[in-house]
Amino acid sequence: MRRVILAGSTNAWLRDRATKYPFVRKSVSRFMPGEHIDDALRAASGQQPLGITTILTRLGENITSVDEAEEVTRHYLDVLDRVAASGLDAHISVKPTQLGLDLERGMCERNLDRLMERAEQRGNFVWIDMEGSPYVDPTIDLFRRTRKLSPRIGVAIQAYLYRTEKDVESLIPLGSAIRIVKGAYLEPPDVAFPKKADVDENFYRLCVRLLAPDAQKEGALLHIATHDTALADRLSAYIAHNSVPKSAYEFAMLYGIQRQQQLRVAREGQRLRVLISYGEYWFPWYMRRLAERPANVWFVAKNMFG
Ligand SMILES: Cc1cc2nc3c(=O)[nH]c(=O)nc-3n(C[C@H](O)[C@H](O)[C@H](O)COP(=O)(O)OP(=O)(O)OC[C@H]3O[C@@H](n4cnc5c(N)ncnc54)[C@H](O)[C@@H]3O)c2cc1C
Repeated sequence: MRRVILAGSTNAWLRDRATKYPFVRKSVSRFMPGEHIDDALRAASGQQPLGITTILTRLGENITSVDEAEEVTRHYLDVLDRVAASGLDAHISVKPTQLGLDLERGMCERNLDRLMERAEQRGNFVWIDMEGSPYVDPTIDLFRRTRKLSPRIGVAIQAYLYRTEKDVESLIPLGSAIRIVKGAYLEPPDVAFPKKADVDENFYRLCVRLLAPDAQKEGALLHIATHDTALADRLSAYIAHNSVPKSAYEFAMLYGIQRQQQLRVAREGQRLRVLISYGEYWFPWYMRRLAERPANVWFVAKNMFG
């Protein structure tokens, strides 16, 4: 089912039809507070008193024109200003293909530089999302280049890829902020572990590697980005047993998923950032959320009939 849904996530015919149905729009509202940045900022202010900080991301990927890349960049510049004015603790997270990577690498770099400059001025932080496997090399190059110019940048790295262990090792000497995720795209078995148990084990190993004293000495920051409570508890036990300082890591989850676990982590005094998505181009992202948990498909079906 996961493969079928992920294949559907890139289907334009399906996207054009599905996004018009009220029951689909109702189902998506579970994972995002609204399509507008104001909805996301409101949700961010709602969670901050609970001890939960935010990552903001505007949905959209693989843009096809220079004007769109410019519009996305300007949007994020404005978000950085609005976050600073609001006093919220909210990073931003961008996809390289939103900044124009498919069109021209230089343009994508320049757009990211503009965001970094504003993040420096506003004392904020920019994450780079990781997309499908053809984008891993250019995304890591983009991160390396930008990390040399500023420490206010982090990158998502996917535990399902065989190559990731080497990538993480090569990023440690840069003093990198790394968000470890399992990986959300449809990848062939020669690129990514097909078995979930192997992905989970790799996720654990990668996190432990980034928490090791030598990685910490270089300045590594780990984002443990998962809703997998067993895995998160296993890592918490490792952290407690090895007296890893709180400054070394944050937990990260998505808005609307495992809310009870989010509240528990925050209550325990652990650092937690919740990624809040917004925007009109939610279809591929929404399909990836459905693929992560087959029960979500029944939730959609219930909305269809109810
Ligand atoms: C902060 C953050 C940033 C991310 N950034 C990226 C990125 O840049 N690139 C990328 O490829 N992927 C990214 N992801 C997605 C990630 O790769 C996984 O696809 C996603 O997190 C699901 O895997 P999991 O680790 O949560 O655990 P799983 O093992 O998939 O799930 C564990 C449990 O969590 C719950 N759960 C998980 N997903 C859902 C869902 N959609 N709906 C309801 N319950 C669910 C279920 O109870 C499930 O049993 C990000 C995830 C997070 C949390």
